[in-house]
Amino acid sequence: MNNSDLPRLGQGGGAASRSRNRAAPVLAGKPEGAPVGRPQRNISSQVAIAAAWRARADELAVWTMRTLVARDDVYGQYLLETERTAGRKAVTRRGEISLELLRKHYRAEQTGDLIGLHTTSANQRCRWIAINIDHHGSRDDAIHRACRSAAITLYGQLQRLGVDALLTSSDGRGGYHLRVLFEPSLPSTTAYRFAKWFVRDWAKLGLSNEPETFPRQPRLTAKRPYGNWLRLPGRHQTLQHYSQVWNGAKWLCGNEAIDAILRTKPTSPQKILRAALCYVIPEPEPQSPPCDVGPYLTQEQTRSPIGAILPKLANIQLCGNGWSARCPAHNDHNNSLSIHEVHDKKVLVCCHAGCDFAEIAEALGIGMTAFFPRGRMMSRAKRKAPIEYRPWRNQA
Ligand SMILES: [Zn+2]
Repeated sequence: MNNSDLPRLGQGGGAASRSRNRAAPVLAGKPEGAPVGRPQRNISSQVAIAAAWRARADELAVWTMRTLVARDDVYGQYLLETERTAGRKAVTRRGEISLELLRKHYRAEQTGDLIGLHTTSANQRCRWIAINIDHHGSRDDAIHRACRSAAITLYGQLQRLGVDALLTSSDGRGGYHLRVLFEPSLPSTTAYRFAKWFVRDWAKLGLSNEPETFPRQPRLTAKRPYGNWLRLPGRHQTLQHYSQVWNGAKWLCGNEAIDAILRTKPTSPQKILRAALCYVIPEPEPQSPPCDVGPYLTQEQTRSPIGAILPKLANIQLCGNGWSARCPAHNDHNNSLSIHEVHDKKVLVCCHAGCDFAEIAEALGIGMTAFFPRGRMMSRAKRKAPIEYRPWRNQA
C-alpha cells in the first residue's frame, strides 16, 4: 500500500485495529444546519467512525448484496493513488461481485478496495435509482448549502410519497447521493423516467445544474453494455469522509448512520406515481451555436481530428494547453468538457461531470475513431471492448 493511500485517519486499518475497535462507540448526530462532513475533523471521532464501518462491514455487505446488486458480473473500482492519472481515477472491472468484495469496500483499507455498483442488469432491470447532487468542485459555501437544501427537500418529497429513501453525504463538502430501492426490480426505462421526473424542478430547488440521475440511460445498448456505476456508501475515495445519513431531522454518522442504512427498505414500484410514468423528459436546452473555431486552430489542425471535433462543441474557451467547452453528453452550463490534442494528433476529452468517452462521442454524432488520426485508429480488439474506453484513455 502506498503511504499516501487510505487510511489516514490517525491509525491504520488492518486486522489488529479491526478487533481493537469492534465495540465502536455510537456517535452523536448532527443537526440540519451543521455542515456535513466537516465535524469529522476531530481525529478521535474520525477514527471511531472508521472503526464502526470496519466492524460492521459484514452486515453492510449482506444488506448491499440483498438490496443493491443489480448485476454481479461487473463493478466500478477506484484505483490506488499510485495507479491514477489525471483523468483516470477509477475503472470498470468485469468480475464477480462477492460478499468479500463488498466487505472490503466497507472496511476501506485502501482506495483500491472502494467500489461502485452498476444500475442496470443485463435484462434491462434496476433495483434502485439514485440522484447525485454535486457541487462540481465548487468551494462556495452558498452552493454547498443549496445542494444540502435540495437533497433534504427531495428526501422529504419521497417521504410524502410514502417512499423510503436513503440520503447520504458523498464527500462531506456538499455532495449527496439520494437512493430509492425497489422490490421487485423495475424496467430500466421506468427507473430512468422516474429519476428524471423526480428532479424535474431542480432549478426551483436552487441547483445550478440538473443533478445526475442513475440509471444514466433508459436502456443498455450494444455500445454501452454496462451503463454507469455509483460508488457505494462508506468512505470517500480521496477525502477522509465516511457517508453520513439523513434521518429526516439530523445527520447521523458512524454506527447510527450504518443502522439507518441497514433499516432502509425497498419500495414497491407501484408507489411510483402515474405522473412519473407519463412524464415527458424535456429535450436538453438548446446549446449556444457552435463557435467559430478559426481563432483557435492552426491551418494544420483544421485538417486533423481536432478540426472536426472542436466545431461541434459549444462555448469553446482556451484553457491551458487545450480547450474547454460545454459537454454535449449532459445538460451542461459550466464548460465541464476539457479537450486536448496530444502529440500524434489524437484528441483526448474528459467531462468533469462524469460522462464517459462513448457518451461524448455519441452525443457529438461521431464515431469514437474520429478522435484518432487516420491510420492510427484503435485496434479491432479494443473497438469490440467499449469497457476499455474512458476519458483520457481513448488511445490506440
Ligand atoms: Zn458530461
